[in-house]
Amino acid sequence: MTDTPTQLFIGGAWVDAADGATMPVDDPATGEILCHVADAGAKDAQRAEEAAVQAQEEWARTAPRARSEILRRAYEIILDRTDELAHLMTSEMGKPLAEARGEVAYAAEFFRWFSEEAVRIEGGNGVLPDGRNRMLLSRRPVGPCLLITPWNFPLAMGTRKIGPAIAAGCTMVLKPAPQTPLSSLALAAILKEAGLPDGVLNVVTTSRAGEVCEPLLRGGRIRKLSFTGSTQVGRLLLAQSAEAVVRTSMELGGNAPFIVFEDADLDKAVDGAMVAKMRNMGEACTAANRFFVHTSVVEEFGRRLAERMGALVVGPGTRDGVDVGPLIDRVGRAKVEELVADAVERGARVLVGGRTPEGPGCFYPPTVLTDVASDSRLMDTEIFGPVAAILTFDDADEVVRRANDTPWGLVGYVFTEGLDRALSVSERLEVGMVGLNTGLVSNPAAPFGGVKQSGLGREGGRVGIDEFLEYQYLVVPVR
Ligand code: NAP
Repeated sequence: MTDTPTQLFIGGAWVDAADGATMPVDDPATGEILCHVADAGAKDAQRAEEAAVQAQEEWARTAPRARSEILRRAYEIILDRTDELAHLMTSEMGKPLAEARGEVAYAAEFFRWFSEEAVRIEGGNGVLPDGRNRMLLSRRPVGPCLLITPWNFPLAMGTRKIGPAIAAGCTMVLKPAPQTPLSSLALAAILKEAGLPDGVLNVVTTSRAGEVCEPLLRGGRIRKLSFTGSTQVGRLLLAQSAEAVVRTSMELGGNAPFIVFEDADLDKAVDGAMVAKMRNMGEACTAANRFFVHTSVVEEFGRRLAERMGALVVGPGTRDGVDVGPLIDRVGRAKVEELVADAVERGARVLVGGRTPEGPGCFYPPTVLTDVASDSRLMDTEIFGPVAAILTFDDADEVVRRANDTPWGLVGYVFTEGLDRALSVSERLEVGMVGLNTGLVSNPAAPFGGVKQSGLGREGGRVGIDEFLEYQYLVVPVR
């Protein structure tokens, strides 16, 4: 903690906000203030943008191998400092240390993956259909980017954007969530140590997101926005990006269906449910939000899930043996409480959990609700907490229709032992990703992203770098 930077990172230097403002960073397990970090305003954002714009041309000319090796070095440093980074993340975000260590590895992997992609950016050439003209196709960085990240995966949401941006030759301004600025500042320090030139990455921590980001989006010098966060804020930023026709990637909210058929292996289904629901205390865009369980197995599934959920240990993430840390803040917890109260009012039965504990910290117990009514608010709201809401269904057509009856389409989970059904149901789900007999889809080597109002574009995989590249084609007549 003592060595973690708390200032803004602009043009390779650590600086205070121009007006000297700072903001507190809280520990959600105790409600106490961990430290204060610089609170950037519009002037600081302009300085960060200027640094990114100035660095762009030279960075675009930097050899792909050099860009690749910076990422590779940063990957090694992150892994070497796993414990330190995990403690930092747990202290500002709350997740248990074991999960934080998992996120460090996941986050680092984006740097390794994109260090490999940096040297595989392909162009092309060919004869045009008229037989006379030749085409040379090249790919170039889109230009200075604005990256906006949420608090739930403070390190990985950063590396998933910074990795491809560095690999593609883009400079950037990163605005992390105000709840979790420390992980991003630590990441900037690591990239500097790994040899990233000044100005390529600039980090502005702020409690004044609109004031900082809107002028950048409207100003015309930022050429790309990569945003991860809620659909509501995504919509606003899309509108702001329209003015200067800024290219956008949007990783937005989800409302994942988790479907358990009558022929599912219930061991797999319950294991999958524990991951899909409880990763990050349910504070994940990929979290299973609606459990559709076939009428014939719902009782057993509910009982087994409630047993597993009820056995989890809730407490501060830094304590040994804890499985479930606090939620991010009191606002987040109040939302979960309201959603559970609404479901219960409409007839849901609480199999386990459902009561907020006394005392400090934003804790909420793992909860299983069954007999949830379809008009409950949590059916069309991201719960973002450790609450599994179970409904029943009787046939495949019906469950597909209900699963798709939402504006979101990030991920779905399907549990069945029948190959035909597995494929046909997965193909009919309106989602960008499907976990088939598994509760975990995230992988740096796979294209992560959603359809409908869950987003635009993909992060990770072979296509992740495309989001940061433009095509240029050159035509040459040959006589
Ligand atoms: P959020 O409220 O949308 O905030 C996300 C980021 O946007 C934060 O840094 C936030 O800063 C910033 N922001 C908010 N208003 C802004 C504005 N007017 N201009 C510029 N920036 C603005 O989301 P969250 O509560 O942090 O994160 C949870 C959401 O993220 C969920 O919906 C979840 O599903 C989604 N998510 C999606 C993915 C994915 O890959 N699809 C991954 C993780 C999370 P402030 O807090 O200061 O406003």
